[in-house]
Amino acid sequence: MIVGDVAAGRPAVVAFGANLGDRRATVLAAVRELAGEDGVEVTAVSDVVESVAVKPAGEDPAAPAYLNGVVLLRTTLAPVELLVVLNRIEDAHGRVRIERWGDRTLDLDLIDYDGEVSDDPRLTLPHPHAVERDFVLRPWLQVDGEATLTGRGRVADLLAALEAGR
Ligand code: AMP
Repeated sequence: MIVGDVAAGRPAVVAFGANLGDRRATVLAAVRELAGEDGVEVTAVSDVVESVAVKPAGEDPAAPAYLNGVVLLRTTLAPVELLVVLNRIEDAHGRVRIERWGDRTLDLDLIDYDGEVSDDPRLTLPHPHAVERDFVLRPWLQVDGEATLTGRGRVADLLAALEAGR
């Protein structure tokens, strides 16, 4: 069943990451599953990049490394409906939320939904940590050279600032 006219839907940005199990198989399956959802049309998928795990205390090279990337999509789903879909795909890949920032078979974050702003802890938009994560900004820039993070500016500038601060 197609929910509405997806092409007329609203743009959203989803970041994916996996650091346990067969990471590549998991992220590729997750992108495929997302693309197969009613009301979702995936319009671009970035390269998959490897990155050091980030914990509350900072980068943790001792933890299994992540594979990360970004998907652009159009959707007729509301933001919370899209988050429910993302959580369902995470759960299908055996993600168990035991530890915040813990290792995970699959993490799907809603980075941006058509520029909407929300400070609801169940769905904060844009994603509050996107601005500090090069493994989100770099693949996002790869698939959209003109990308902007609502309230923060151009993704190209944010990434340059992040890299300069290293
Ligand atoms: P995490 O374990 O870091 O992926 O966080 C998952 C929790 O963050 C869930 O309870 C979500 O409801 C909440 N959350 C808030 N904003 C977002 C967002 N933009 N994308 C994904 N999860 C979010």
